[in-house]
Amino acid sequence: MGTYARQNLVFERGEGVWLITVDGDRYLDLGSGVAVNVLGHAHPRLVAALNEQASKLWHTSNLYRVEGQERLAERLVATTFADKVFFCNSGAEACEAAIKAARRYHFAGGEPERWRIITFNGAFHGRTLATIAAGGNPRYLEGFGTPVAGFDQVPFGDLTATEKAISPETAAIMIEPVQGEGGVNVASAEFMQGLRALCDANGLLLVLDEVQSGIGRSGQLFSYELAGITPDLMAIAKGIGGGFPLGALLATENAARGLVPGTHGSTFGGNPLATAIGLEVLNAVQEEGFLESVRRKSLHIKQSLAAISDNYPGIVQEVRGQGLLVGLKLSVPPADLVAAAREEHLLLVGASDNVVRLLPPLNITDEEIAEAMQRLERALDRVAAART
Ligand SMILES: *Cc1c(COP(=O)(O)O)cnc(C)c1O
Repeated sequence: MGTYARQNLVFERGEGVWLITVDGDRYLDLGSGVAVNVLGHAHPRLVAALNEQASKLWHTSNLYRVEGQERLAERLVATTFADKVFFCNSGAEACEAAIKAARRYHFAGGEPERWRIITFNGAFHGRTLATIAAGGNPRYLEGFGTPVAGFDQVPFGDLTATEKAISPETAAIMIEPVQGEGGVNVASAEFMQGLRALCDANGLLLVLDEVQSGIGRSGQLFSYELAGITPDLMAIAKGIGGGFPLGALLATENAARGLVPGTHGSTFGGNPLATAIGLEVLNAVQEEGFLESVRRKSLHIKQSLAAISDNYPGIVQEVRGQGLLVGLKLSVPPADLVAAAREEHLLLVGASDNVVRLLPPLNITDEEIAEAMQRLERALDRVAAART
C-alpha cells in the first residue's frame, strides 16, 4: 500500500553497521532501522540464538507457559523497577497495553472515573487509534474520525501546565523521557522528578514510553535511570528484539493489578522465537563495560558533531540528545541532509522539529564513527553547495 514514501534502495544483507544493496553498494547505517538494530546487522550471537530456537520451537500461543518468555521476564524484572511483564510485538502495542493498564488500575481500585491520561506536545506513541490520540499529532489524526477520547496534552517540559491539567478524572501521566520522532527532545531530570512527585501526590501512575530510548540507547539500560526515578508502567519495543519484532509492557505489581485474566492479550506476544532473541540482546547489552562504551561513544559523536557544526553555522543549529540517540537541529529541511548523506552512502533518519537523527548500532566502533563523521561533513558540503 501507499503508506510509505520509500527510498529506491534494496538491501540484501547486513554486516554490523553496514548495509549492502543487491548491487553490492555498502552503506554506513546510522539509522539502525529506526533505533532497532542495537547490535547492528546479522550479529553472530543473535543469529545463533535465532537458529538455535528456530530448530526447536517457534510458537505455541499464550494458552501455555512459555519458558523463554519467563526467562526474559525474569531478566527484565531483575534489572529494572518492574515486577510484571506483558509481551507484545511492537511499540504501539506496548503503549496501547500501558494505556489499558493505567485505566484498569483505577477501575480495579474502585475509581473507574479516573481514566484520562496526560500526554505531551510532540509525543509519539505509535499508529493505532488510541496511540495517535495519545500522540496528538494532527497529521496522524486527520481523516480517522473522532480521536479516541481521554488524552489531555500539555507542553513538553512544563510542570506547571502538567499540574494544572490534573483533574479528578486523571489516571496517569505518559511521557517519552527522550522524544524521538518529536525531534530528540530530552526531558530534564528535574522535570522527570517533578512528574514523579505529581503522580505520587495525586495517586496517578507514571507511564514511560521507552520504546526508542530503552535497551541501552540512552547510555543506561533505560533512560529513567538517568533521572533517578522509577515509573509505574513502561512500554518498550524497538531495541529489545534487535530487529525481531518484540515489545513489552513492564509494570510494578501494584500498577499491574487491573490486568487480570481476560482483560488483555496477544496471540504472538512473547513467543519462543522472539523471546529467545530478546534475551540474547539483553545478554549482550548487559555485558560488563557495554553501556560504558555507549556513553563513551556518545561523547565522541557529540564532540565530533559540535566541531563539525561550527563549520556549518547556516545549516546546523544545535546538537542534542542522550546516549546514542542524537539529533542535529537544522535550519534547512532535514530531508535535504538525509538525501545528501545517502549520496555519501550514510543512512540517517529524519524527525520533527527540523531534526535529523543519528541512531547508530550501539556496538559501532570508533573507526566507524570517524568514517560516519567524514561522510556527514561531505553531506553537509553538498547541502551548503546546493544553497549557494
Ligand atoms: C517507534 C515508537 C513507537 C511505536 O512503535 P511501533 O513498533 O512502530 O509500533 C512508540 N513510541 C515511541 C517512543 C517510538 O519511538
